[in-house]
Parts: sequence; C-alpha cells; structure tokens
Amino acid sequence: MERAASAASNMDLSVALLPSIPVTLRVKSHSEANVVYDVDLTGPSCTCPDWRGARSQLPNGSLTRCCKHVLDAFGRLEPAGGWPGWLGAFLEQGWKPHPRKRWFIVRLGSDFGLVSVGGNDWSDVFAVVGGSYERFGYNIPDLRWSYGNEPPRSDEITQAILGEAHGRHERTSRGGLLDRFFGR
Ligand SMILES: [Zn+2]
Repeated sequence: MERAASAASNMDLSVALLPSIPVTLRVKSHSEANVVYDVDLTGPSCTCPDWRGARSQLPNGSLTRCCKHVLDAFGRLEPAGGWPGWLGAFLEQGWKPHPRKRWFIVRLGSDFGLVSVGGNDWSDVFAVVGGSYERFGYNIPDLRWSYGNEPPRSDEITQAILGEAHGRHERTSRGGLLDRFFGR
C-alpha cells in the first residue's frame, strides 16, 4: 500500500504521534462473529464500542487512540520495510493502551525512546537495544523495572518518567504524588 509506505517514510520519530494515513479499512471483531468495524487511519478512529467509549476524545495521532482494530489495520498496511523505529515495536507488541496513557519521546543519544505515563502504575518503555527496539516496563510507585530488566540509559528514562508523571499531576490535582514517589 503506497500511502502507508509514504506515511512510514515521512514519519517524524522525535514526536510520539501516529502517522495519519488517508485509508479506511473494515476490520473484524475479535470477539463476535459477523461483526465488523470501520477503521479510519487519519485520526485514527474506529466504530467499535471501546474506541467510541474511551478513545474518541483523545488528541489526533495519540497512540492511545489505538483500539484492537486500529492495531489490526496498521498491521495489514505494514510497508515492506516494516513500520519505522518505535512505531514498529509498539504495533508489534499488539496490546491496546490503557485509555488514560499519555506518550512522549525521550531522546537517548541518537535514538528515540517511546515512553508512556498514566492510567496505572506502569510506564511502558520502548528503547533501542543493540540496534532494535525492545519493550520494558517501569513501576512508578515502586521505582523498579519489571523483572529487573533495565534498558540502556535507564537513569535518563526514569528521570523523564518521574518528571512527566509529577508535572502532569501538579497541573491536575496538586501535590501528593512526589510524596508517594520519594516517601517525603
Ligand atoms: Zn476498534
């Protein structure tokens, strides 16, 4: 699909946004026979209950706009060289994000790490290890990596995670969260 290949090659991987692809696809429900949903990859948007109930208010391009069907649609349009950078890793792991997850990029030398905060205690991290992206999980209140498995430059990543979690929290409800982080 030419438009997907062009979107892939024009992606700016320094911002955590999905490419906008002017394509609409019909995707089958995972759980119900004979049910199909329409996925529009410009928003992206979907006609399923999960998307309409929990994701439609998110800003355009947010990775959290991905329901299962949007993920399927990106999978079907995957260009020959794959989706680039962190997007390939995010789509490949195949789960839909918690509806309150926010995504941002952490610059790590010449690479871009994709990081989420919000919705639950876990931050999702996609970072380059030996030339390809791997997924990691960081527990924010416990200040620990899932299975003790840390990405390279984990100090920079955890600083960014805590800064993002703290900053957003202050703007919404003031105080408290840092106390939880550091036991103050
Ligand atoms: Zn959907």
